[in-house]
Amino acid sequence: MSDAVHYQVVIAGGGLVGASAALALARRGVRVGLFERRYCGAQASGVNYGGVRCQGRPAEQMPLAMRARRVWDRLPELIGIDGELVVSGHLRLARRDSDFAVLETWAAMAREHGLETGLLAGAAFRKRYPWLGGAALGGSLCMSDGHANPRLVSPAFARAAQRAGAVVREQTALTDIAHDGTRFQLRAGDERITADWLINSAGAWANTVAGFFNEAVPMKPIYPNMWVTEPLPRFIAHNLGVVGGGVYARQVERGNCVIGGGRGHGDGEYAQPSTQTTRAVMRDACALLPALRDALLIRTWSGVEGETPDSNPVIGASQKVPRLLHAFGFSGGGFLLAPGVGEVLADLVIDGETSTPLDAFAIGRFNRSAIPAVL
Ligand SMILES: Cc1cc2nc3c(=O)[nH]c(=O)nc-3n(C[C@H](O)[C@H](O)[C@H](O)COP(=O)(O)OP(=O)(O)OC[C@H]3O[C@@H](n4cnc5c(N)ncnc54)[C@H](O)[C@@H]3O)c2cc1C
Repeated sequence: MSDAVHYQVVIAGGGLVGASAALALARRGVRVGLFERRYCGAQASGVNYGGVRCQGRPAEQMPLAMRARRVWDRLPELIGIDGELVVSGHLRLARRDSDFAVLETWAAMAREHGLETGLLAGAAFRKRYPWLGGAALGGSLCMSDGHANPRLVSPAFARAAQRAGAVVREQTALTDIAHDGTRFQLRAGDERITADWLINSAGAWANTVAGFFNEAVPMKPIYPNMWVTEPLPRFIAHNLGVVGGGVYARQVERGNCVIGGGRGHGDGEYAQPSTQTTRAVMRDACALLPALRDALLIRTWSGVEGETPDSNPVIGASQKVPRLLHAFGFSGGGFLLAPGVGEVLADLVIDGETSTPLDAFAIGRFNRSAIPAVL
């Protein structure tokens, strides 16, 4: 076995969270190693729906979401491509009268975070959106939201991190993870590695890493169900969602409509879409978007994501080990957040603090006899 290679920061997991942390750290001059057991951006970060959406998020996520959204505007400068980011606006639809109250309450909360949305209903709504079906009664439009191509964006963050000086190792799982009282000791294949800091961004598998420190949290794998149509004449102007969730849709430049909703199947390691779910959710989608009725579905898929009991991620310091940072459990909403999470993790490593509030994401919230986290 070779001598140990030392890094200031080792990152477990090359999804968008790990890769954006690697990029943020490398850009700030830190010697960082990004280890991915498969291929960077090939798991949830590369197969998701592609929603870049602040609208609909809970209040506690808003500061992080707003910070992350600003990073998305800098993609060409940061990763060398625009990732097919389209600032289309996100239209959150009301399907029943009670949904309007939800939209109004959310709009008031978002305004406090500096985010404006416009509510529309009745004849004005119908006139503006003739392509929406009768199931949509009105909606709230957040113009700064949009969508992007996850298959391009997520690997591009890892490549950019490498160009910025990070060591990026694919097909290399981190195992035998321990802390010897001074630093982390790890194994990556035949290689022995040491590190001052460890970032656990192993996605749905993050409890394996946390488990080495007896710090696993209640998290279960989920398998969001997705499909895409043949190219259709352009008609969906915005990224679409509904109050209460359950169906979302966007149309890409080429005309294909990407639609999601419900759950597929999986075994914690691999995911499969569900035909039954696709059929059921497609009925809801057609009630909102009648032009989909005769569309051919050309592909369905799913992916593995970690969901926590409160649907908020775990972001921040371990309670068990100094200089261990967790960032996982994004519960189906981490694509928008990840570039902001990378910056926040770099703040914690380099500055020992961050201006972005993280209290709601503390790992200790799952532990009744909470102990303070240790940086
Ligand atoms: C089908 C689907 C649709 C979604 N739609 C949206 C959406 O529209 N908008 C949105 O905001 N979010 C969405 N999400 C959620 C979003 O994709 C995730 O929250 C986000 O990608 C999580 O990023 P991550 O880096 O934490 O996880 P991942 O991308 O899963 O990355 C974790 C990585 O860690 C690696 N790994 C695990 N263990 C180890 C180890 N021991 N050593 C090395 N590597 C390891 C894995 O191989 C994996 O590549 C969706 C998710 C799915 C699955």
